Amino acid sequence: MNDCIFCKIASKELPSYTIFEDDDVLSFLDIRPVHPGHSLVISKRHDPDFLALDQEAIMKMMGTIARIGRAVKTATGADGLNITTNVGAAAGQEVFHVHWHIIPRFTGDGLRRFPQQEYASKEEAFAALSHIKSALAISTAKPA
Ligand code: 5GP
Ligand code: ZN
Repeated sequence: MNDCIFCKIASKELPSYTIFEDDDVLSFLDIRPVHPGHSLVISKRHDPDFLALDQEAIMKMMGTIARIGRAVKTATGADGLNITTNVGAAAGQEVFHVHWHIIPRFTGDGLRRFPQQEYASKEEAFAALSHIKSALAISTAKPA
């Protein structure tokens, strides 16, 4: 049995405040919004996170995210948006079915960015760079 809450929303077993759907993607209001209008875009197919999608699914999803993003910004009068996806529990992912957040943001709304830091040295930056470039060289568009 599939206990995934977003699979149940995609199959209409559970209700949602649905904004848009097509054969591949569904968009609906987040039940606990950062601000009213905070929306989610999910794939109808169950994949655990964005990195598990193949390239075609990624392209379709990003197109819909941009479209819903424009609508949310216009409809809410937001000054900006955070368009984000969490990959893994360490990044705050709680529902392990691929989804993107479209979060309206307002000037002075008091929400902070992630805390950031300086690199301790050029060597540290180059080490991070070289590890990522090595990983990129052996990665493929579609996960194995
Ligand atoms: P995550 O932390 O996995 O990136 O975000 C999951 C999001 O799904 C949360 O913002 C949470 O409020 C939302 N959510 C969890 N369960 C439901 C639900 O049953 N319906 C709706 N509409 N949103 C949900
Ligand atoms: Zn699912």
